[in-house]
Amino acid sequence: MRIEQDLKLGFKDVMIRPKRSTLKSRSEVSLLRKFDFLHTGQSWEGVPIIAANMDTVGTFEMAKALGSLRMMTTVHKHYTKDDWRDFIKSADPEILDYVAVSTGSGSADEEKVAFLMNEYPQLKFICVDVANGYSEHFVSFVKKMRNAHPEKIIMAGNVVTGEMVEELLLGGADIIKVGIGPGSVCTTRVKTGVGYPQLSAVIECADAAHGLSGQIIADGGCKIPGDVAKAFGGGADFVMLGGMFAGHDESGGETIEVDGKKYAEFYGMSSKTAMDKHAGGVANYRASEGKTVRIPYRGPVTETVQDLLGGLRSTCTYVGANRLKELTKRTTFIRVQEQHNTIFSG
Ligand code: 5GP
Repeated sequence: MRIEQDLKLGFKDVMIRPKRSTLKSRSEVSLLRKFDFLHTGQSWEGVPIIAANMDTVGTFEMAKALGSLRMMTTVHKHYTKDDWRDFIKSADPEILDYVAVSTGSGSADEEKVAFLMNEYPQLKFICVDVANGYSEHFVSFVKKMRNAHPEKIIMAGNVVTGEMVEELLLGGADIIKVGIGPGSVCTTRVKTGVGYPQLSAVIECADAAHGLSGQIIADGGCKIPGDVAKAFGGGADFVMLGGMFAGHDESGGETIEVDGKKYAEFYGMSSKTAMDKHAGGVANYRASEGKTVRIPYRGPVTETVQDLLGGLRSTCTYVGANRLKELTKRTTFIRVQEQHNTIFSG
């Protein structure tokens, strides 16, 4: 047994210190980022916010709505080949630049990705997603994907430490997904005791990735636009959102009406609900590591996006960053023991 004494921080432990700025208005801030990727020689430009590959978030409808705003969706892995055919037939081709195909690390997943990449060469991104990115099997799967799809941009995760970011980048991934346990419907920390405070994970993993010319996605734990700003301030190239994009018209899943109010069901991809739906129940050797919640229905996602991007632009003006790219350089975090005032909102 060993104890690491360094303090590790979550979003709730810091604020971003304001700095003198020459910017006159939020409208002067650009949230677009352009990336070149480590292994593919491809580049991409857009607003680097991603809807999570959960079946009550990363839907085709979400991909259409966010893609039209140049934001990404990692489309969940439970759509069939026929669903993909129908989506691609009807979707504006430009949307596909903002779509990633999600996959697990099993042989059926591998076959489906191969089919989709072959059938629809316009798809550029593959997101190889497992709960625990530390297994050797996962690293060899990423290598296999790189060999099979040399021209595709590969996202891989999840991990939370620099050495594993490096291993996955060297193994063929372009972008590493960072986060174990911070998610809104995740119970990994409850069931296993395993995790890493998300802001420190982002800071440390971004440093490791940027040293090798790779990128990271801060995945999970953002509850409010301010957390998204802190993730970018900490060095995240992309930020992935589950809960913040759930409960909208585009999010899929059931809506329920109780006493005249509309609610949506939202659940973790390792929850009993998801396993009952997609895997015929929870296997007897494992526990579910996700929960199912009912959240107020929130209307079209574009309004949430506007609020989020408005917040981010404002962060940039507070620290004098005229582009999102500058935000990390302009960020000084201060450690705090309070956050916002909740007297009227609970
Ligand atoms: P959120 O933005 O809701 O805080 O976090 C979204 C992230 O939570 C997802 O992108 C994914 O990494 C993670 N996640 C989704 N479902 C589950 C689950 O059932 N268990 C765990 N441990 N993590 C989950």
